[in-house]
Amino acid sequence: MENIYKLTALEIRDKVVTGQLTAEEVVNAIFKRIEDTDNEIGSFVSLRKEKALEEAKLIDLKVKNGDKLGALAGVPVSIKDNMVSVGDLTTGASKILNNYIGIYDATVVEKLKAADAIIIGKTNMDEFAMGSTTTTSCYEKVTKNPWDLERVPGGSSGGAATSVAAEQCFISLGSDTGGSIRQPASFCGVVGLKPTYGRVSRYGLMAFASSLDQIGPFTKTVKDAALAMNVIAGMDEFDATLEDVKVPNYLESLTGDIKGMKIGVPKEYFIEGIRPEVRDVVERALETFRTLGAEIVEISLPHTKYAVPTYYVLAPAEASSNLARYDGVRYGYRAENLKDINDLYVKSRSEGFGDEVKRRIMIGTYVLSAGFFDAYFKKAQKVRRLIKNDFDVAFENVDIIFTPVTPSTAFRIDEKKSPVELYLEDIFTISANLAGIPGISVPAGLANGLPVGIQLLGKPFREEDILRAGDAFEKGRF
Ligand code: GLN
Repeated sequence: MENIYKLTALEIRDKVVTGQLTAEEVVNAIFKRIEDTDNEIGSFVSLRKEKALEEAKLIDLKVKNGDKLGALAGVPVSIKDNMVSVGDLTTGASKILNNYIGIYDATVVEKLKAADAIIIGKTNMDEFAMGSTTTTSCYEKVTKNPWDLERVPGGSSGGAATSVAAEQCFISLGSDTGGSIRQPASFCGVVGLKPTYGRVSRYGLMAFASSLDQIGPFTKTVKDAALAMNVIAGMDEFDATLEDVKVPNYLESLTGDIKGMKIGVPKEYFIEGIRPEVRDVVERALETFRTLGAEIVEISLPHTKYAVPTYYVLAPAEASSNLARYDGVRYGYRAENLKDINDLYVKSRSEGFGDEVKRRIMIGTYVLSAGFFDAYFKKAQKVRRLIKNDFDVAFENVDIIFTPVTPSTAFRIDEKKSPVELYLEDIFTISANLAGIPGISVPAGLANGLPVGIQLLGKPFREEDILRAGDAFEKGRF
């Protein structure tokens, strides 16, 4: 069969289960596709072809024997390089972990395997998920936007986004601390979902900012995102921050009907900075929702303007603490020619971390230091609560919230933006992490030939609402 790689995850699963395709054929087709395209795109930092083929054969055997099959039987999935899997290189795109082989499976990996998915490799990212371009990776390869090879794919889960956009796999898992799933999804024209904080286990995810990080799927369609969520959501004894809220069947929530759904549009998201060509696509998307029978209501999230500064105090603070474990002693990179233990710490960390990571460690250490803790960290915690309260108030009157994902489309790789300019790019995505609510980026059209996404934000543990709206929009748009 031609062009297996063009199918969706759901189609692959159905064809494998009914014997129309073997898992082995699917995996072979995907690796052929990767060989044909990845020199140019650069999605992957490591591949597990032999293991994937072995696993495919076992699934084909199950099909033959009439054994029960998982929800992702035979579906090739890629994983961001900050989630551990047993026996596989897992580096977080950092030199400090350049030789680290996973000794256990992250819970999401375990769940994928239990669902008979096939993990094909690890994708490129910004070092330790800090960034929005995938250019702070320690790997020399530059991940490129499949829509325009001179542009960034976004980040930090850039390789995850391109692996789906370039049809090198059907589902990819990324992590989102301040927008790292939704922004690259928007830049690359695919679907990206950040679940509610506490919906998906973070066990086995390299911690960046533990109170903000969530794992979520990149897919070609909203329906596939629902399918992936059916597999990865839910309780796990290894992550105490999960909440015991029933996991619905997300596929069943895609009724296609959003008549009467109340969609809030926050006025603070449409004032400055947003490029006219992006605004056009976003406004047209809003019209589509109106046509589908949703009720559009203007709302206010008054503390929006504090989201970026709040995040850039809290995320580095948590990162500086989380990254203290990389000391060159127990695992990862260790410098040579050392005088004493202090020299070992300093040299290993100086040589092992890249510039952006060091910048964040310094900011984080500063805002947590005794003299500045109240002025920065504590203050930011209070503002975080106000941002969360804004959403609580808004959700008393609306079902979901509609916003742009980013102020602009993918920018050029050689366009050197300053750290602060890059931080400001996160303006529309960061609030969802601070408030812990779910958000999805759904492709809405092109602006000057480049993809533009729209963002739908939901109430805590109500991924089904934004999936339903996203699915209806996806169908209603054509
Ligand atoms: N761009 C943001 C940052 O640099 C978000 C990163 C993320 O979500 N992992 O921190």
